[in-house]
Amino acid sequence: MAFRVLPAVLILLALDSACVHAPTSRVPTEYGDVRAGTDAQAHQLAAMVHDLRPRIQALLPDASDRSIDVWLDAALARRAGPGEAGIAALTDLSAGRIRISGEAEGIDVDFLLAHELVHALMGESWEPLPAIMKEGLCDAIACQLVPDAGPLARALRMFGARFAFGPQELLLSCTEPSFGGRWSARILISGPEIGRRGPLEVISLGGHGVRLHEELQDEDVLYGYGLLLVERTIQRIGISGLHELCRRAERLGAEVVPEEWVLWAADLDAQPETWERALVEAIGPREFTELTRHLDVGLADAIVDNARYRFPDFNGQEFLRASDAMLQLRGADLAVPLVELESLSEQVLSAWAARAVPAMSTREVAWHVDGEGPRLGVMVAPEGTAPGFRIDWMRVEAGSAALGGDGARLAGLLGGERELDGADSMVDMASLRFGVDGEGPWLVSAMAGGFADYRVEVAGVVVADLTWGLNTRLGVDAEGRSTVTSRLDPLLALDQAVLYAQEANVLISQRPMDRPTTEQRFPLHIPFRR
Ligand SMILES: [Zn+2]
Repeated sequence: MAFRVLPAVLILLALDSACVHAPTSRVPTEYGDVRAGTDAQAHQLAAMVHDLRPRIQALLPDASDRSIDVWLDAALARRAGPGEAGIAALTDLSAGRIRISGEAEGIDVDFLLAHELVHALMGESWEPLPAIMKEGLCDAIACQLVPDAGPLARALRMFGARFAFGPQELLLSCTEPSFGGRWSARILISGPEIGRRGPLEVISLGGHGVRLHEELQDEDVLYGYGLLLVERTIQRIGISGLHELCRRAERLGAEVVPEEWVLWAADLDAQPETWERALVEAIGPREFTELTRHLDVGLADAIVDNARYRFPDFNGQEFLRASDAMLQLRGADLAVPLVELESLSEQVLSAWAARAVPAMSTREVAWHVDGEGPRLGVMVAPEGTAPGFRIDWMRVEAGSAALGGDGARLAGLLGGERELDGADSMVDMASLRFGVDGEGPWLVSAMAGGFADYRVEVAGVVVADLTWGLNTRLGVDAEGRSTVTSRLDPLLALDQAVLYAQEANVLISQRPMDRPTTEQRFPLHIPFRR
């Protein structure tokens, strides 16, 4: 399942050329004027400036003490064109002014303010630092000074940058409810479909920071590269070591710190795999939690898509308990239990409840799409007066048309016709036949590749099990498929069977030999005859 995200938060450094109106409330501070729409907001913002500015000056080598005005200005967010993300913050060095539009995509105002203040306070000796690393330094210091906002900001930056190397994938792995096998599904997350520059294409660009570009809108990856480079460099040689690289570049007359120095300092190389790996390693448990909170609705949807029909008779809570579901970013060592991701678990519960598996009586057809593609289920009642029914579940092969135009085939199925016309686009997943003979009710399950596991439970008691050799007779049907035949309780009234009923008393679980981690689960309600 794929869904799209727009994880970029734009924090821009630009000439504030648009017509600017100052917000009305003004609080003068020793660092410059603070303005906002109301007195309360202006005082709150002034308190943030008082808190952050001296700490930035203490942390940042060669910090300037220039006077900077700070505005909280909602008009900034409205400047975006149609379809564009709003602008969260903007620093205009020539005007000596920082404008912040307010909280953006869950990133707090104090984080945005810290980021912009670092831009504004970097002394001239920082000039040779590559533009993306100036952004990275602003983010790295903001993460340190505003620790509550750090994990989400870092997660969005690193996650965003990974889009340069293709769509993102999350791996969902779960335990099957009957046989306990582990299976996994890939959840594809695609970002905005734009061309993105690789890290080596932008690593040597100079300037004060990342600028809004007319053609390229790949800011999401640039911020991520920058933060990755700076955090890894600070870990190895500290902010003073990073600053020293700038001074040495200046002494050598280099306009920008050379690429080799930057890669050396961050312990990276020119290989895309190295970058992908480093970006995913930077997403630790707290970042992962924040990332899944940020994407919770889409992710929950994809998880439920993948798991719902494997746990048809489970409610959401039971699924969370029984599945032992884990999530992992592609290429990451870190795997986190779904139940530990609170916000995502809550969304899974509500998506699960909203996506109940509909009950099916005979002569009904159900049709769903999940992580493995479209499926078609049919409950067929036999012709004439014989009691019994058949369940067919088929996978519709990728590339075949949606069933819209296949009315004739459906009609054929419902009429009990044995052969599927044009069945080449349908792959048998399961075929279960129930009937009655002189000895009572029977069940024949047929599977093309044979059975890895097969079990029937009636009222919670195992009455047939292939591994135990209990009540299972193996055979081959007319179509060459492997079959397992079991006798059923003589009191079961087959003509009243309902598949996926709320209160199931007959449960058939099976796993195909060729796909042993694809457990198929058929909970049925079949009343007992009195
Ligand atoms: Zn910036």
